[in-house]
Parts: sequence; structure tokens; C-alpha cells
Amino acid sequence: MRRPVIAANWKMYKTQADTRAFFSRFRSLAAELRHCDLVIAPPFTALAAAVEAARGSEIAVFAQDVYWEKEGAWTGEVSAPMIAEAGCRGTLVGHSERRHIFGESDDQVHRKLRAVLAAGLSPIVCVGETLTEREAGHTESVLRRQFTSALTGLTAPEFSRILVAYEPVWAIGTGRVATPEMAAAAHGFLRGLAAEAYSPAAAEALRILYGGSVKPDNCGGLLCETEIDGALVGGASLDPVAFAAIARAAK
Ligand code: PEP
Repeated sequence: MRRPVIAANWKMYKTQADTRAFFSRFRSLAAELRHCDLVIAPPFTALAAAVEAARGSEIAVFAQDVYWEKEGAWTGEVSAPMIAEAGCRGTLVGHSERRHIFGESDDQVHRKLRAVLAAGLSPIVCVGETLTEREAGHTESVLRRQFTSALTGLTAPEFSRILVAYEPVWAIGTGRVATPEMAAAAHGFLRGLAAEAYSPAAAEALRILYGGSVKPDNCGGLLCETEIDGALVGGASLDPVAFAAIARAAK
């Protein structure tokens, strides 16, 4: 039985004051959410405020992105050791907005993943196909390419520290959610890739989250699928009550 993970991706929303306000409401709601791991990924400027506001709770603060070098002349970038020092326990890697808006390649996702693991952090590696790729019947080949290139060369102990998020690009921020059957099929396929690359036991232990327009009113069917181990939530995670309702549905 895999422990569910409910993760919030705040994207470029919330100031430090907004972050403190979110936590002051969410901390009381989180007291009844002990059945799952809770992750909040604020923007870089609000990480310290989130870490402070989460202190003494089980809520993990993650970054949304990272650069693969430790330090240097990389204007605008933030490294994995810097994120760790800020008190984060992990970071998203390869979110579809990074891949499709900022042109992040599979190789860059791989380098980021290695840097995150080397810094002792937990990565949530995001993969997912576009609508054109799905309609052309390429969903599995895209997932295979993204999964395999991100994870190339990882040892079994490294692999055991990663989380994967299946986020079909056509479902992110669009209000168009994958059906539980579609998501479960993609998760099953990804789990099969993990079994091929590592072992059936490693695949069985891998937690795969679904992301893409998850809301309190559509999460029930997704989260009761045995293949779906939680959710990566964008828009609905900005509201502590809605985010807590999604986490409650993972019971
Ligand atoms: C996301 O940002 O990862 C996401 C899934 O967004 P939304 O829930 O808004 O579709």
C-alpha cells in the first residue's frame, strides 16, 4: 500500500504575506490529513516564509524548479544546495510549463534531477503528452522518452527517492481533466517502465501522482484508482479549503 501524496504547485502566485495567510488557515485543516504526505511548492520568493510557516508540522515545502549547477555565473537561476539550505525538502523537475513555455529539454530535466538527488532532496519528476501527441497515438512513446531520459543512469537507491507526476499537458490549467481510466492507464504504463528499468518491487513502491485540473469535485474518481497515488494540484491548491478537500479525498 503506497502512502498518498497531495502536492500543491502554486506556480507564479502568492506573495510572502499570502503564503503566511494560506498556512494559518491550512495548518488547522492539515491536522486531520495525516493519511497522506502534504507538499506545498510556492514561488522562490515565498520559500522561506513557507518553511517558517510549516515549522513543527509534517507539511513539506518544495521548490518549483532548480538549476543543475551548484553556483556560478547563471543569472536568475537557483541551485539545489540553495533550495536545501532554504529548508525545502524537494522540488518539481520538468513541469510541463518549464518544458513547453521555457523550452526545457529532456536532457536538462535529467541534469536537474541528478543535481536534486545529489543535494539530498526529493524530486517530483513531471511527464506528460500534449493533445496533438495523444491524438496521434503517441502518448506511450512520449512517456517512455521523457521517463527514460530523465532517469538514465540512476541507481536503484536513487530511483527509490523519486516521485513521478503524470500531467497530460492538455489537462493543465484547462479545466479538462483526464478520466480516471485514462490516468490509470498512463500510470500503469509508467509503472511498467519502472519495472523494466529497475525491478517489480521498485515499480510497486514508486508513487505516481496525477496532475491536470484536479478540483475537489473531480478528484474522488481519480484518487480511488489503485494506480493513482496522489495529485499534483495547480489552481485549486491556492485555496486552503479546496486543497484540504482534495487531500481528504485521498483517504
Ligand atoms: C500543475 O500546475 O501542475 C497543474 C496540474 O495545474 P492545474 O491543477 O491548475 O491544472
